[in-house]
Amino acid sequence: MGTEFGRGNAAPLFGAIEAGGTKFVCGVSADPSQGLLAREQFSTGDDPERLLAQVCAWLADQERRHHPLAALGVASFGPLELDVRSPHYGRITTTPKPGWAQCDLLAPLRRAFPGRPIGFDTDVNGAALGEGRYGAARGLEDFVYITVGTGIGGGGMARGALLHGLVHPEMGHIAMPRLDDDTFEGTCPFHGRCWEGLCSGPALAQRTGMAAEQLAPDHPEWDRLARYMGYALATLTCVLSPRRIVLGGSVRKAGALGEAEFFRRIRSELASALGGYIASPHLRAPLLDEFLVPPKLGDNAGIVGALALAQDAYARASRTH
Ligand code: ZN
Repeated sequence: MGTEFGRGNAAPLFGAIEAGGTKFVCGVSADPSQGLLAREQFSTGDDPERLLAQVCAWLADQERRHHPLAALGVASFGPLELDVRSPHYGRITTTPKPGWAQCDLLAPLRRAFPGRPIGFDTDVNGAALGEGRYGAARGLEDFVYITVGTGIGGGGMARGALLHGLVHPEMGHIAMPRLDDDTFEGTCPFHGRCWEGLCSGPALAQRTGMAAEQLAPDHPEWDRLARYMGYALATLTCVLSPRRIVLGGSVRKAGALGEAEFFRRIRSELASALGGYIASPHLRAPLLDEFLVPPKLGDNAGIVGALALAQDAYARASRTH
């Protein structure tokens, strides 16, 4: 079963869910490069069963309006169980988010859409896949996608495959050096001053008493933020040797400082943290401008990524049938 859906005259139609900590975005599309046929969002809340029933009902309604969904894709906040051999595959695992620990995201979808392949990955791996297929990392097989917002997360590809391994990467929780004049202990409940604990939106807000959008362009915190970002991005560059880093999330818009100036500063801090050691012209001006870039899919990165996960699940199922 599974491959008959979406066959026929019409191009296969895909359904997708971007499962975030504050909202679930749903969309359907036959070709994400042409946009979405429909999009809806629901507040995440603390009742997964009710929310997932709403999501399934919306997707089923889309089937009635258009034609059957060929496959589904779910890109979710984590941590997640991604090991297909685990009986807990498809679950959110240890989140402190009320109501969501051990929530099985896939079971309600399997019941509502029997036989349909379902692609499932982290929100950041989904966004990486979307940017790789339709956005800022198009054509690259080795790159990293980072989001700096409420938290910090990273996904990416090595030789064309999404990064998984033991669990999935947790790039936002790498350890950070301490700048001389910095006494801030960080906001991460697990590590204090890891990258997320120092540079996420809430960390910036706790340091300054205001949101990133409200900080004046000459606020000294921008420089400190850029410095820490440079260290973290240098670590990722040394460890993963990406051909590009796509940096998304809300903090990178940098309020009154502006995205272009924020990127100029973090590129410069990245280069200085690397100290000229890595022998690649891509890590120096002017090519550095193409090494560290904002996303091209903007706020659609998550849902387009989830659609790309659906496309891949459909392609895998088609190959095995
Ligand atoms: Zn942490």
